[in-house]
Amino acid sequence: MASQVTGELNVFESAEARFEIAAKRLGLEQGVYRFLKCPEREITVYIPVALDSGRLEVFTGYRVLHSTVRGPGKGGIRFAPDVSLDEVRALAAWMTWKCAVVDIPFGGAKGGVICDPSKLSKAELERVTRRYTASLSDWLGPERDIPAPDIGTNAQTMAWVMDTYAMHVRQATTAVVTGKPLELGGSQGRNEATGRGVMICCDKALAKLKMKRDGCRVIVQGFGNVGSQGALLMHAAGYKIIGAADVNGGLYNENGIDIPKLYDWVYGQKKHLPEFPGGGEKMTAQEVLFRPTDILVPAATENQITSQNASRVDCRILCEGANGPTTSHADAIIEKKEIFIIPDILGNAGGVTVSYFEWVQDRQGFFWRESEVNERLQDVMEHSFDQVVRYAELHKVNNRIAAYIVAIDRVARALKLRGFYA
Ligand code: NAD
Repeated sequence: MASQVTGELNVFESAEARFEIAAKRLGLEQGVYRFLKCPEREITVYIPVALDSGRLEVFTGYRVLHSTVRGPGKGGIRFAPDVSLDEVRALAAWMTWKCAVVDIPFGGAKGGVICDPSKLSKAELERVTRRYTASLSDWLGPERDIPAPDIGTNAQTMAWVMDTYAMHVRQATTAVVTGKPLELGGSQGRNEATGRGVMICCDKALAKLKMKRDGCRVIVQGFGNVGSQGALLMHAAGYKIIGAADVNGGLYNENGIDIPKLYDWVYGQKKHLPEFPGGGEKMTAQEVLFRPTDILVPAATENQITSQNASRVDCRILCEGANGPTTSHADAIIEKKEIFIIPDILGNAGGVTVSYFEWVQDRQGFFWRESEVNERLQDVMEHSFDQVVRYAELHKVNNRIAAYIVAIDRVARALKLRGFYA
């Protein structure tokens, strides 16, 4: 349903709007179209958890499996107060298209629990995670559906998911989740993978647009896993990060922000990002999106760039680190401004790519060096970027629609080869 306040679509409808355009251009036949539009399965679980106070709380959780056409479901688990079934549905479908864009043999899934992790103790979070996993244990598995971290969850959460699943199936099964700690079968390079993928895409876009990397101005909204790791890598590579923001607000400094020091401020000293001494001009997390820059990386959450504010975006390259940061209503405005877009299903696919490498390593029981992981990631991202951009140029569509078309075409071909089991 369109939001009553802004007339903007919700994320699920935004995801569907792009799917519709791409499906039409591809000329998908009706049955395939219907099949790919609907998720394969949606589960709602109610999670009773005793809080530290002794009070019993019942949390609501979801797991949506959008597609297993090209392989087991793959997708993160989000812990946030505003998780909804529609959001999880959209994120699950995006995972299908993302895995297909980078051509890794996974389908798409996503999970979420309505809770505020900042208000729960570590022990309470562990109980929520374990009960959520136990409720879903029949549907998870290395060949069924493989979770990973997302907003509000991390490597520790994945360790609890893995252990709970292992207790249920009565065997150690490290490949049931990715984004795990290294000690439990995690992969080198996974923590930085999404941010590294963002940088690889930006490097490719710069080369394409004949722009220089040294001193190239970047604004990053979101300073969590994707935003902070992306900013650290880009800073080290010679980009100039002139803006950064997290949920507490933003900073802008045209001379560049010292990102390693900001990282230490936020994560080492546990201080609020906008209070970073000498960091620059303080502003809201939204306002930072509208300052002039060469590259804008929204890496926080959905619906940040909308039809209401897209005209204020002032960048040459928009690289989406978050899922769904731009609404479909804003697409036309961004296109008219001739902004080179690197859509989320390509821009943030570095994370799922290294998750795939982690799954492969777990199943082989043989682990790769970090340099090997990074080289393979570089190869996958560069190749996928080239395919999307080539398609966009050939068929005169924007990069977002090109990415959807490449992805949907891959899934549709696999589906037709498998046929419809009845
Ligand atoms: P995270 O929880 O580690 O970090 C989220 C960051 O966004 C935090 O800095 C938070 O303060 C900030 N934030 C939240 N709401 C905000 C707001 N309204 N304005 C400004 N900042 C805000 O999450 P993450 O893993 O970095 O994920 C960020 C986005 O990237 C999500 O859309 C997620 O789905 C997507 N993503 C993550 C990965 C991954 O590997 N972690 C992979 C692909 C896509």
